Amino acid sequence: MATPETPLGLLGGTFDPLHNGHLRLAEEARAQLGLDRVRLIPAGHPPHREAPGASAADRLAMCRLAAEGNPTLEVDPSEVESEAPSYTVTTLTRLRRELGETRPLVLLLGVDAFNGLASWNRWQELFDLAHIAVANRPGHPLVPARLAPELAREWLARQSSPAALARTPAGGLLAFTITALDISATAIRALVASGQSPRYLLPDPLVGYIAQHHLYPAKEASKSAWN
Ligand code: ATP
Repeated sequence: MATPETPLGLLGGTFDPLHNGHLRLAEEARAQLGLDRVRLIPAGHPPHREAPGASAADRLAMCRLAAEGNPTLEVDPSEVESEAPSYTVTTLTRLRRELGETRPLVLLLGVDAFNGLASWNRWQELFDLAHIAVANRPGHPLVPARLAPELAREWLARQSSPAALARTPAGGLLAFTITALDISATAIRALVASGQSPRYLLPDPLVGYIAQHHLYPAKEASKSAWN
């Protein structure tokens, strides 16, 4: 039985839509890093990028559909329900208050996200709040020499291990290897918009949700090729 101090994984994203790349990241992180569960945190108003293709309500609904029947996944609606921009540091501060000072929290990032970490709002404070575990992603190598110098310094100074993550609440940094899945939400949106099926790139119920709610609308000429 998990104790309350078992590390909790946190996976934030636009999830526009959530796909099997995200879900394998969560699943393999849980197994390799000894996480109790992984909490999916869909962004409401992501400050880093253009407005998502699907509404916050639809992105949240897709996360809930994907988590249904999997007791190791939780869905956190707080960023979607907030009017404020979705800054990770704000979310982690709230989670610390909610979960206490001692529970190990592990923020899960794909390499593409980690490579840009030094541009995030108050990013250095993230290490006071959580560990960070970085998963490989096809097309996005992790090259310490190419990181922003201040991030490269953290990378060297904070190297941790899965066992060490469980011993402290925050502050460690590590890379781990998952099944490489070259799946992106951008490619899924493009597939759907061109009238092709996205099936097998994301769970079937989400494929159904996209069709039923007419998300990522197809151009007139290719409409209803798959739904
Ligand atoms: P988009 O194509 O719209 O930018 P995305 O597929 O990159 O979306 P996000 O919601 O931006 O998905 O990603 C959330 C998190 O999941 C990020 O940390 C990202 O690096 C990670 N991630 C997404 N897809 C993969 C994948 N195929 N393999 C490993 N990590 C992934």
